[in-house]
Amino acid sequence: MKICVLPGDGIGPEIMAEAVRVLNALGLGFEMEEAHLGGCAVDATGSPYPEATQKLALAADAVLLGAVGGPKWDTLPREQRPERGLLGIRKQLNLFANLRPAILYPELANASTLKPEVVAGLDILIVRELTGDIYFGQPRGIEVRDVDGQSQRFGFNTMHYTESEIRRIGRVAFEAARKRNRKLCSVDKMNVLETTQLWRDVMNELAPEYPDVELTHMLVDNAAMQLVKAPKQFDVMVTGNMFGDILSDEASMLTGSIGMLPSASLDANNKGLYEPSHGSAPDIAGKGIANPLATILSAAMMLRYTFNQEEAAQRVEGAVKKVLAQGFRTGDIYEPGTKKVGTKEMGDAVLAAL
Ligand code: NAD
Repeated sequence: MKICVLPGDGIGPEIMAEAVRVLNALGLGFEMEEAHLGGCAVDATGSPYPEATQKLALAADAVLLGAVGGPKWDTLPREQRPERGLLGIRKQLNLFANLRPAILYPELANASTLKPEVVAGLDILIVRELTGDIYFGQPRGIEVRDVDGQSQRFGFNTMHYTESEIRRIGRVAFEAARKRNRKLCSVDKMNVLETTQLWRDVMNELAPEYPDVELTHMLVDNAAMQLVKAPKQFDVMVTGNMFGDILSDEASMLTGSIGMLPSASLDANNKGLYEPSHGSAPDIAGKGIANPLATILSAAMMLRYTFNQEEAAQRVEGAVKKVLAQGFRTGDIYEPGTKKVGTKEMGDAVLAAL
């Protein structure tokens, strides 16, 4: 069980140290090796995704990433920017399935902009296809064309999915639903877009293989409304790249607390890249006050999806719930009446709860 650990930039090393401590405390015998990605890699080697990191990432079963980027590297040529490292590793590892849970712990219900009764206890998983759809479809571009009797600029993109692309993301979603409450809502726009009619057809074709999972369908405009109206109706949602981009951001903001949100990106063999949804937070880097829980929860997702260690995943998630119930809070989720702690103390509390 090899893990490639990429702390990255900004608060990355601080939050990663706590996640590594949690993984070690589980005593499961993980082999962990660290490498550079992003700005720190540029500083060390001139490249945001150096060869040594590529080798390690390819050889590992899973990659655990902190965050990359920061103002120090924003003026570099595009190919040396930290984000290039992130795109590079996602592409090289063939990560086509993005899993983003949006969980609102009852203790943090006030952090949401929605009424507590609408969101308290929320637990949604959005499964987004990551490598296809209109974001990558050819042809694309902006050209000058003769349209409606005049020469004018014409912008165009192409939405497409093959049935095999839909089937493989569908399987990830059905399998994920099996590990949760066995409800899967597939989101499309089949009333207007043929590509998503195919999406719906393929999801329906897969359903008989998963008789224990209840499959429903929803049009994307309704899904966007339902997410703010009654988000607790959802368990797992699966959708294409563009709809998933928008809906996963919408769902994550139902929780209001960016320091709590983990994510996973998987390949066809459940090898995965696990990272918090937030960035490198340069404004608080080096101060020891960043919230490590999103990274610790990303490690829990790694236990569940790559290593099939459901019990260990639940132990870690249970420990996070416990520290919140005990009143421990980093600055980003602090409320009067709770105990304000730093990054390391939060890690200590999770270890104690474990
Ligand atoms: P950000 O997520 O880094 O920060 C937004 C705000 O949330 C900041 O006020 C920050 O202090 C706070 N915050 C974020 N994570 C926190 C945590 N764990 N604990 C406490 N507070 C936290 O987004 P940004 O400011 O837009 O971007 C900063 C840098 O991060 C940029 O260089 C950007 O490109 C990069 N970035 C990287 C990733 C990634 O590595 N996947 C994702 C987004 C942004």
